[in-house]
Amino acid sequence: MADFPTQARVVIIGGGAVGCSALYHLAKAGWTDCLLLEKNELTSGSTWHAAGNCPNFSGSWSIMKMQYYSTELYSKLADIADYPMNYHVTGSIRLAHTKDRMEEFEHVTAMAHHQGIDLRMMSLRDMVDVYPFLETHDLEGGVWDPTDGDIDPAQLSQAFAKAARDLGARIERFCPVTGVNRDGGGNWQIETPKGAVKAEFVVNAAGYRAAELGRMFGRDVPCVSMSHQYLVTEAIGSLRERGAKLPLLRDPDTSYYLRQEGNGLLLGPYEWQATTHWLNDDQPMPEDFSFQLYPDDLERLEWYINDAIARVPILGTAGVQKVINGPIPYTPDGNPLIGPMPGVPNAFEACVFSFGIVQAGGAGKVLAEWITEGETEWDMWSVDPRRFTGFVTKEYTRAKAVEFYQNEYAMGYPNEERPAGRPAKTSPIYHTLARKNAVFGARAGWERACWFPRPGTDIPENKLSYHHTNWFDAVKEECLAVQNDVGVLDLPGFARFEISGAGAANWLDGLITGKLPKVGRIALIYFATPAGRILTEMTATRFEDDKFLLLGGAGAEWHDQEWLYKHLPAGSPVQIENLSDRWSTLVVSGPKSRAVLETLAESDFSNAAFPWMSHQPITIGMARGFAVRVSYVGELGWELHFPLAEMVGVYERLWQAGQDHGIRDFGMYAMESMRLEKCYRAWKMDLSTDYSPLSGALDRFIDLDKTDFIGRAPMLVEKQAGSAEKFVPLLLEDGDVDAPYLATVWMGDERVGLVTSGGYGHRIDRSIALSYIRSDLAAAGTELEVDVFGVRRQATVATEPLYDPGNDRLKA
Ligand SMILES: Cc1cc2nc3c(=O)[nH]c(=O)nc-3n(C[C@H](O)[C@H](O)[C@H](O)COP(=O)(O)OP(=O)(O)OC[C@H]3O[C@@H](n4cnc5c(N)ncnc54)[C@H](O)[C@@H]3O)c2cc1C
Repeated sequence: MADFPTQARVVIIGGGAVGCSALYHLAKAGWTDCLLLEKNELTSGSTWHAAGNCPNFSGSWSIMKMQYYSTELYSKLADIADYPMNYHVTGSIRLAHTKDRMEEFEHVTAMAHHQGIDLRMMSLRDMVDVYPFLETHDLEGGVWDPTDGDIDPAQLSQAFAKAARDLGARIERFCPVTGVNRDGGGNWQIETPKGAVKAEFVVNAAGYRAAELGRMFGRDVPCVSMSHQYLVTEAIGSLRERGAKLPLLRDPDTSYYLRQEGNGLLLGPYEWQATTHWLNDDQPMPEDFSFQLYPDDLERLEWYINDAIARVPILGTAGVQKVINGPIPYTPDGNPLIGPMPGVPNAFEACVFSFGIVQAGGAGKVLAEWITEGETEWDMWSVDPRRFTGFVTKEYTRAKAVEFYQNEYAMGYPNEERPAGRPAKTSPIYHTLARKNAVFGARAGWERACWFPRPGTDIPENKLSYHHTNWFDAVKEECLAVQNDVGVLDLPGFARFEISGAGAANWLDGLITGKLPKVGRIALIYFATPAGRILTEMTATRFEDDKFLLLGGAGAEWHDQEWLYKHLPAGSPVQIENLSDRWSTLVVSGPKSRAVLETLAESDFSNAAFPWMSHQPITIGMARGFAVRVSYVGELGWELHFPLAEMVGVYERLWQAGQDHGIRDFGMYAMESMRLEKCYRAWKMDLSTDYSPLSGALDRFIDLDKTDFIGRAPMLVEKQAGSAEKFVPLLLEDGDVDAPYLATVWMGDERVGLVTSGGYGHRIDRSIALSYIRSDLAAAGTELEVDVFGVRRQATVATEPLYDPGNDRLKA
């Protein structure tokens, strides 16, 4: 084929809305030598039949950013591309049936305002004013999203394609990718029936076919195709007479969207009877499903149709003109995959979008940044493919995808521990804790006890509320037991890497912002991005000059592993061994922890022999491991590290030895409360690439005098100029609700910051909000306010840590 391009810097596989946007954004960034390969015609996957709704509203900070970026871009795209499109900006109403839902809307509205989006809370009257056909008698109110609307998805994709081509990018249609290989030089060789293409980078933008394409790279993409339907009615007289298009309507408590299409209505429910397709060999994905649909299945929507008719009676006055039932891909958490393809160098993913029309614009920007700059402007962990680690099988993905689809519009309660896909990973102590009635939550697949209901007092489940709820008092008791006696927490699942080999220390030193610990000691170490932002945090335990154990958060396993490997020079004698699934941790903390451990292990646990921030090998019964004198809960304490197989023996002996000292189990919720009091940062909440280590007040972990490390240059600049924002703890006035993640911090009429962790500190009996605020307001004692679900609460800047400021209890 004469004109077939045999080389490109980036090859994007898939020409839906997302692939076309990625091509445009790469070209816009100056990477015009890019090629999009599409199996069939552009938009032939999920894109052509999408309803095209484009909300800004989202409970997630980064998804909201992406969607807002999209809606802003779409309003200009016809001009940019010189390609006229149907984009109806009608605004939208979301209905609230309950006070909880109104609280959720208040919080999302505040988040939106912080991003510059003008969401507005609505009264019943406001809603009827803009939507006269609405029944409101059983509602609480709603929220208005002013630039919501609907766009023609095919035109949107074609506009991106045209704008990209105008900049020099190329598109090959009817060109399915059939295989990929790497040549000796590390370049990709992408096979198609029209010929092979060489490329430096490749992007999987194959929509619901992402898993099929992923297999060509040896990558298991967590993707399930669900079927999603909407119906469109015949024309309705009152709409024809009205002229102006109705706003979009969403009823999240009932679970549907409803909008005007022509002079009819379009109704799309997320129904409980979520239906998956193409999962097994007896129902394989057809080789080609371009521009095809599943058979209509209105029966499973019946309940929702009736509910919507009761809400908007004109809907019941017209017959159904057409039904669209098409494939919509889901990941286990309903968010797409955008970013580095796990384990595969120079390959990226931009696929498995359930809202790919509204997210295409933002996704293209994010993907282009990943490729051209190696990092993204906004922290995008919520969509990072590496958030799903090795336990994410097809069965897990199916179970979670179904659960997510069913709850697509459900409220985002903190501490909701949904049941699907569990248990995936358990510690050997799981059954013992289950017999003690523990309420579990899954963290990166690992079952961990969240709290322990008190026999005869508490029901063993989480009642959902934004306010202090049924576990509050039990968690308080757990915290006080740790403060006064001793508590034990089973904490399986840390990301755990052993680093060894000649030069390991030097190599690590070049990656971290601060100092490595001496042999026999441990230290918190921070990694920055090249742009000087917070990449990750690990605890380094140093066994020998060139031998370390690095511990990170359970969810960080693939993320941290990739960073380490990426920066390991070829041929280096340094070795990285991932021990995450082989070892585990028991936390033993509280003033009586020394007494308990002394009766158990042969080691000397005295302050002189075993000081704070040091480690030693220990033997308990038949188990050999090591103990680290450290406590994330801020009391005298040790972490006990043993191979998983030995944990039952260690736990049982510990429990027996602790009887005389009042030992008790505590859970993750108590740990969370206590770490807030110590202002210990949590990864991807208080520590994200949205912030720099300097603004994170991590100065004692930064050594700018070191010759070099990743991120040093921009940090030097920031040090000189001063950070715009600073991490501080805020203490809130009393109330029965704590600040949610990303609550707005106010100074009078000015937005001055965001909360990154909120909760109740039982040992200090105060509501805590760890926050990033404008640095000129960071002095202790400054009076501010925090918007907690629509209510301004007085907040005072405090000094960290809030509990045991001299760390005397840790060093006792
Ligand atoms: C009924 C329904 C209504 C929806 N409504 C909305 C909505 O209102 N708003 C919204 O935001 N989202 C909506 N969606 C979701 C939306 O359709 C998808 O999220 C979006 O279309 C995904 O776009 P994409 O580019 O990622 O994937 P796709 O559009 O599926 O594109 C992937 C492309 O990759 C190509 N491809 C696959 N394999 C290969 C290969 N080996 N070689 C070359 N090319 C390949 C395919 O042919 C396809 O064209 C809806 C979905 C459904 C089913």
